Amino acid sequence: MSGTIARVAVPRPIDDTFHYLIPDRLLRQIVPGSVVLVPLAASTVTGVVTDIVDQSPVQAKSIKALAEMDPLKEVDLELARWVASYYHSPLGLIMRLLLPPPVRSGTTRFRLTDGGRAALEEGGAPHGDLLRSLAKGPRTVSYLEKRHDRRLIDEAQESGLIEACFPVSPPPGAGVTGPAYSRDEQPVSDLTEHQDRALQAIEGHIESGGFSVSLIDGVAGSGKTEIYMRAARSVLDRGRGVLILVPEIALTPLLTSRISRIAPGGTAILHSSLPPAARKDAWDALASGRAKLAVGVRSAVFAPVTDLGLIIVDEEHDPSYRQEESPSYNARDVAVKRGQLEGIPVLLGSATPSLESFWNTETGRYSLVLLPERATPSPPPEIEVVNMADPGQRRPDDPFLSVRLLEELGRTVDRGEQSILFLNRRGFAPFLLCSECNNTLSCPNCSVTLTYHQDRGMLCHYCGHLQRPPDLCPSCGGRRIAPVGTGTQRLEDVLGSLLPGVNIERLDGDVMEKRGALETIYGRMDRGEIQILVGTQILAKGHDFPGVTLVGIINAEQALDLPDFRSAERVFQLITQVAGRAGRGSKRGKVLVQSYSPDHYAVSAALTGDYAAFYRAETEFRRTLGYPPFGRLGRVIVDGVSQERVQEACAAIAREASLSHGARVLGPAPAPLPRIRNRHRWHILFLAESRNRLNKAFLAARSQRAPGIRIHIRVDPYNLM
Ligand code: ADP
Ligand code: ZN
Repeated sequence: MSGTIARVAVPRPIDDTFHYLIPDRLLRQIVPGSVVLVPLAASTVTGVVTDIVDQSPVQAKSIKALAEMDPLKEVDLELARWVASYYHSPLGLIMRLLLPPPVRSGTTRFRLTDGGRAALEEGGAPHGDLLRSLAKGPRTVSYLEKRHDRRLIDEAQESGLIEACFPVSPPPGAGVTGPAYSRDEQPVSDLTEHQDRALQAIEGHIESGGFSVSLIDGVAGSGKTEIYMRAARSVLDRGRGVLILVPEIALTPLLTSRISRIAPGGTAILHSSLPPAARKDAWDALASGRAKLAVGVRSAVFAPVTDLGLIIVDEEHDPSYRQEESPSYNARDVAVKRGQLEGIPVLLGSATPSLESFWNTETGRYSLVLLPERATPSPPPEIEVVNMADPGQRRPDDPFLSVRLLEELGRTVDRGEQSILFLNRRGFAPFLLCSECNNTLSCPNCSVTLTYHQDRGMLCHYCGHLQRPPDLCPSCGGRRIAPVGTGTQRLEDVLGSLLPGVNIERLDGDVMEKRGALETIYGRMDRGEIQILVGTQILAKGHDFPGVTLVGIINAEQALDLPDFRSAERVFQLITQVAGRAGRGSKRGKVLVQSYSPDHYAVSAALTGDYAAFYRAETEFRRTLGYPPFGRLGRVIVDGVSQERVQEACAAIAREASLSHGARVLGPAPAPLPRIRNRHRWHILFLAESRNRLNKAFLAARSQRAPGIRIHIRVDPYNLM
């Protein structure tokens, strides 16, 4: 006998599912995976039915509507359950990621029922006005509430004249636009020997079917993308679907257009800055099987690709695969799990593989595919380091710039070639310092200094607080306050006055706020209209500038100051990735790395391009401390308005977690950012031998919920701030 109660996962930060009564008219249609509208407190939300039962422990409310879409598939439900349990993320929030965008939003609309339409024709009061409002189609609750009494709306619903429904789909094709940036390219005819061997290995996995993970470790320009495309092509030719994840679509329009060329007309592109209609379109095309190839950012790992046959994760080491906020997950790792559940091959690729993935090739869990050489005749760039600890190397007036780099920039300009300069800090200067009292200007809501932006003022990069730069020091009233250090704005400014007449542009988060700015700059770089491009990590993200022969890295080890066990890995990856932008065309490139600690193993290994050396040093360090991949890391953050409560709760969690004997407990301690948006933050780290033991510690932590505080659980965290 089938039950009459549905358990529904709702999009709220809670662990439980809720019970709802299945109305008679929907009894036969609702199954596990059905997408439904349900009342929750004062609102109506979109939820997913997890199972059907006979009884509810409480008085259950009724399901309001069933979405006009196929129920989620069992394998998708299973993936969502795995993500929720692995990351301790609320199931309903994960399920939400499996839904097409407009259905996700859950904004309730009402439409006329057949009964309502009949009543409207009879012109019957008292609901006449309300029914007339709906004559032309569904309306949102807020629209109706502005015009009609809430009681009337409820009555009309109870007497079956109107019913809740999902938002209407936009017409197909709405809002889909072509790429704003493209470049003509010669198709590659013959693979190199290394590429050939790589492709054969991957084809082998595709042919034999079943779950496998391959890691392509290939230097920049070695032709990884070419391999992705051929592997994808071969799966598409077998009539199956392919999912390709990239770190940031907006930054790599060329990559996206190259990839989508293999399934013209049948590629669904998924990222959050697309208009909702376009996202809905892409989603529908995949779910219906009209499109077989999906390219998207991290949340696309949940995309409804029909008959999925291959998953590719480009730049698998990239931290943007990690969603830190709730629902937290790492799309690279979810991709591997999805591959396992679907029983298909997964392909990870990077020029700087994450330590975790490389370790997995050493233990035999993943197979390793090497592309050690560039695919084109262009020789690898020459790398030179400038030791900034030596004052003689620095320019006296602008000490963040070396004499050498300025000299090389001048030469490159004279030769008519292009340069890019990388500095991972936007704004003019990281802070204003009073040289009389040593006071720096901090955010009133967060424990960070305000960044000085020339055009805007003093900006907090955490909460967005903005204020005018003061004329006098707010603490001592002194006049000698000046910007310290440099951001991309200042670098652009200084170079402008040192190299008059040279075309210098900037590309960072501030510039990107303007729509189309990126495409404009890429286009102007292609046409040689920009001689020097200054930018943040946007420049490191894999866009290929063929005219660039000089790459300068302003502060190589910036990330080494972070209290983060991955900081050395990030430094190695950033230098290697940025250096990979040099000399992609026919001329040999040069990379100049300014560094205060050129002897640090992350810097020196990146300079020689020696991944193996870096890997050996880094694994030694991680093994000694029991950090990933040698142990499981977890983090608990407690935040709240009252510092006392936060501290107490944190102490209690640490005590309980220690008693659970699951993990080594580090802390509690104030988080490196001890206050954000006026909330105090403390944290605890757990290091455990196994996932089961880590879970023991987390369960202990979760039992310490208390009013006035929030407990955030992070499994395999990337951000330790
Ligand atoms: P990666 O993704 O490893 O950085 P790409 O696939 O983007 O490398 O290749 C770098 C450049 O080399 C591209 O311009 C590409 O067209 C070219 N290329 C790739 N494979 C070959 C090949 N076998 N022969 C000639 N050119 C190639
Ligand atoms: Zn702030």
